[in-house]
Amino acid sequence: MNEIITYLGVLAVVSFIVYWFVKFKFVLPLETKLTFTKKTFSAFTSFSKDLLEHIYIPDTLDHYTDIVNYYLIKLHNVLPESNMLVFEKVDEQWKLINYFKNFKHEPKIMAGYAWDIFDKAAQEKDLTRVNISGGYDDVPIVSLLKTFDIKLITICPFMWKASNHKRLLIIGHEEDKRPEEINHYLKLLLLHINAIYKVSEKNIVLKKENSQLRNEISAVLNELDMAGSKLIQRAKERKALYEVVTQITGDNKDINFGCSAILNIVAKIVEADVAACLILDEDKNSLEVYPGAFGIQEKDYYGIPITNTESSSVRVFNEKKPFISSSAQTDAEVLTKYAKLWNIHSLMVVPISLHGKIIGVLRIGSSKENFFTDDQLEFLSIIADELALIIEMVTLYDNLSKTAKELAQSNSMKDEFLAAVSHELKTPLTTIKGFISVILSGEAGSLTAQQTKFLNITDLAVGRLNSLISDLLDLSRLTGKVEMEFEEVTIEDLVRHSTSNLIFKAKERNVKFRCKLDKNLKSVTADPKWLMRVIENLLVNAIKFSKKGSEIKIEVHNKGEALVVGVIDSGPGIAKDEQRLIFDKFYRGKNNSDKTPGTGLGLAISKSIVEKHGGKIWVESEMDEGAKFFFALPFSKKRVKCNLVAGDKNE
Ligand code: ADP
Repeated sequence: MNEIITYLGVLAVVSFIVYWFVKFKFVLPLETKLTFTKKTFSAFTSFSKDLLEHIYIPDTLDHYTDIVNYYLIKLHNVLPESNMLVFEKVDEQWKLINYFKNFKHEPKIMAGYAWDIFDKAAQEKDLTRVNISGGYDDVPIVSLLKTFDIKLITICPFMWKASNHKRLLIIGHEEDKRPEEINHYLKLLLLHINAIYKVSEKNIVLKKENSQLRNEISAVLNELDMAGSKLIQRAKERKALYEVVTQITGDNKDINFGCSAILNIVAKIVEADVAACLILDEDKNSLEVYPGAFGIQEKDYYGIPITNTESSSVRVFNEKKPFISSSAQTDAEVLTKYAKLWNIHSLMVVPISLHGKIIGVLRIGSSKENFFTDDQLEFLSIIADELALIIEMVTLYDNLSKTAKELAQSNSMKDEFLAAVSHELKTPLTTIKGFISVILSGEAGSLTAQQTKFLNITDLAVGRLNSLISDLLDLSRLTGKVEMEFEEVTIEDLVRHSTSNLIFKAKERNVKFRCKLDKNLKSVTADPKWLMRVIENLLVNAIKFSKKGSEIKIEVHNKGEALVVGVIDSGPGIAKDEQRLIFDKFYRGKNNSDKTPGTGLGLAISKSIVEKHGGKIWVESEMDEGAKFFFALPFSKKRVKCNLVAGDKNE
């Protein structure tokens, strides 16, 4: 029993000893290590949390430096016992640009050092550890570090400029304490600031592009704005100019309207109250207000001798230089009398030159003080010369329209006169012709052979005079309000009548008519009397110009919409340059011999008649190959009606 008790006692003592041995030897160190690891882990976790919670994206590279410094301070807070130095490579030398730790001696900021170990470490992506306690005594930078009891350094390159690690963070330790832990911190920090750099690099580029784009857009917008306002200004000018032109070229204008319209537009453009041209009057040797001034009554027009150099207008005229005044009624350089007369305070005067010669000045005024700008003065100078051209154009236009009016008037007087005279001549001529036939017949007594010969010549001359008067009368009727008597006519009948009327004339020259008429001819709406006049005119000419013994062809074709009549001869033909002239009144071609009778009216009359029927007349000819005259008449009555000239009442 005692043995058992003793055994149990020994067992208890041994167990106790074993328990405490194991506890001291293994459990307690493990527990201590665990507690330490826990502490380290929690410090690291809170550091990384801190970093992640404070991510700053810099706008500029300077801002990036500040942010990096901020993170370095955070690192320094968790590794307070370490020395932290930041070096930057400038001009092949490592310069200390920042540090975190109270050094015994203040290190020299921006002092430059060279050390190939730094150069090599800067190329690495990872950390480099260097034990400087044994060696490197001749390296100045190491001497500096040793002064502060640094024995070990960890070199940590970090991103500074894109793909170029030129900044180094140096962590210095007195001894090799917790290297793993420090490495974790540094690697995390490196990852963090490099990631921020990459993002910020993109951000900076984007921002730069953005601001560039914004600048470009605002430049474009500015340009557009300027172009827009210029366009609006141009459009305003165009509109005003258009108004002027339409009014100048329109009806109901008085002589001075042109100038007044121009001054009106100039005044509108510069928002002036008064605009006037003072043009040199060479007889009076003075500048006189040109009629049509804007904003001034005629009673306030004035003239100023060009010897009066106190007048700004005279000086501008003589010196050919524009003048501007912001207060014309008190300006010593202006004749205030006239400024007051026109009630203007701001004044611009520019010379007007025409074909290189100054002819006057343009005076623009405003009732407001300080109103005009140098830009407006420049604008006026540019348009003043244009103005001179317009004044010249308006004057020419006025003169021309006056001449045209006079011409039209005298033309119509001439027509009236011709109509009256022809009518008056016709009656006595008929009487003369009647008496000649009576005398020639012998009813008034017998005649000698010579008397008969003279009377025959007189009869011929009277006949020609008669036909000239008939032509003139016809023409005057056609240019006036002739009344056509339209009816359905058969062209074959008209051709037959015309040829039989002229058969004797044809025989005199031994020419024959040959008619070629289409079978399917339809009737046309026409005035038979006038239409026969056309056919006969063409036939008379053909007889006149045909060679003796030749043939004249008369063709009539149905061309669908129109009836075409042709008179074709084998005469001398008509030169190309004359073909459009022969239809003019009184034009007689060069192919007429002195003896060829004629008035130069036949074709003009024919053209007028055909056109009154809504048709067309033309000639086709080659020299020495005869002439082919054609006229076409539309079948449709409607067309004939539409083409009647105003005043023709027949429908
Ligand atoms: P006129 O025959 O009285 O001179 P017209 O008006 O009939 O006047 O003709 C004008 C001109 O056209 C003629 O002077 C002549 O030069 C030319 N002419 C007209 N018909 C012919 C023709 N068949 N052949 C050549 N020339 C012609």
